[in-house]
Amino acid sequence: MLKKTLKVVIFNSVIVGGLLGISDSLMSDYRVKIEEIPDTKTLIWQFMFFLLLEDLFFYIGHSTLHRPQFYWIHKRHHEFKTTVTIAAEYAHPLEHIFGNSFPTFIGYKILSHIVPVHCIAIWVFVTFRVI
Ligand SMILES: [Zn+2]
Repeated sequence: MLKKTLKVVIFNSVIVGGLLGISDSLMSDYRVKIEEIPDTKTLIWQFMFFLLLEDLFFYIGHSTLHRPQFYWIHKRHHEFKTTVTIAAEYAHPLEHIFGNSFPTFIGYKILSHIVPVHCIAIWVFVTFRVI
């Protein structure tokens, strides 16, 4: 099971994630700052904004994937019967895109159209999300 899981997780992370990152950078015009490091207050409220939207969209996505017409996408994730960290990323590529990646990045994509978001805020959030 571990070998099979690693294949799926590596495929999703490298191939699917790589294609998502490339297409996102080519199609987006959001503002991400790389200059001055933001103050702690800014990092905290932006982190909380990302977290709120991630929770909301993850819940909506996960609930949708449990509907009978979409469960064929999601059933791979539930091959694990116990809670194991790597099982969170053991998913069909469609689930990896819409159920995992989209909720993770929707917060900064929305916020960066309203105010500049520093890349450190994104890195902190994504690191927290992955861990
Ligand atoms: Zn589920």
